[in-house]
Amino acid sequence: MTDKKKLVVLTHGGAGSNPAYADGTAIAGQMGMMALQTGEPTIDAACQAVATLEDDGRFNAGIGSHKRVDGSVQMDASCMDSSGTFGAVATLEGFRNPVNVARIISQSEYKILAGRGANEFATNQDCQILSPDQIVGSGTDFSTTDTVGCVLRSGDEFAAALSTGGIDNAIPGRVGDVPLIGCGLYAGPAGAVAATGDGEAIAMQVTALRAYQLIEQGVDPKAIVPTVISWFKESTAFGIIVVSKIGFAGGANRGMAWTASELH
Ligand code: ASP
Repeated sequence: MTDKKKLVVLTHGGAGSNPAYADGTAIAGQMGMMALQTGEPTIDAACQAVATLEDDGRFNAGIGSHKRVDGSVQMDASCMDSSGTFGAVATLEGFRNPVNVARIISQSEYKILAGRGANEFATNQDCQILSPDQIVGSGTDFSTTDTVGCVLRSGDEFAAALSTGGIDNAIPGRVGDVPLIGCGLYAGPAGAVAATGDGEAIAMQVTALRAYQLIEQGVDPKAIVPTVISWFKESTAFGIIVVSKIGFAGGANRGMAWTASELH
């Protein structure tokens, strides 16, 4: 019989993030775990963990977002749960927690909003504004990608969330894997997957859905992680976190801050 009370939370700071920043992913994981313990929906718990990482400043998301080549900051985020709820935002400007915007979109009649319309939508929802002087990550270190993500389990339910400032020096309007369902993330009744790295490569592999299909086939996450990493050239930054009813695992072909916690 499935243990319905099993709680598992994994968080990552992105492929190429400094593993020494695992204190940040651990705190974010604690926020997700506390939300699960107080009975919040899995998708809200995943979004709270990712919002904590957006507020950290050491990762390429939220206040830590990198600038585009023209100096603008445009952010993508997404969330999904095993009941089929999905929402995403692309090239959002001027809001502190894009993952919260994605969550509100998931409760609307839409699935993905981008650009000007996304900004108007977030403004109408009273989402917290981010002024340019609050962005601490821009212009500091563009050598890594550092998207943030979370996957979690509460009994038989799963969820995933992602947020990013995008890859370094991209042109305005560039959208990677993060808001694309089945590319950067996927969640279903068998588990949840969140990826990080080169968004174009991740999207072209339909990575998260294919990793999820391995979960459905009963493959242990500890085997899924190296298998999925092997789909990418070593020169292509890639990382992934996975949780299923069998277990959980994470890894990357770069350094990556990531943490996992489990409660029975
Ligand atoms: N996948 C993200 C993107 O391409 C970047 C990352 O994960 O680090 O926008």
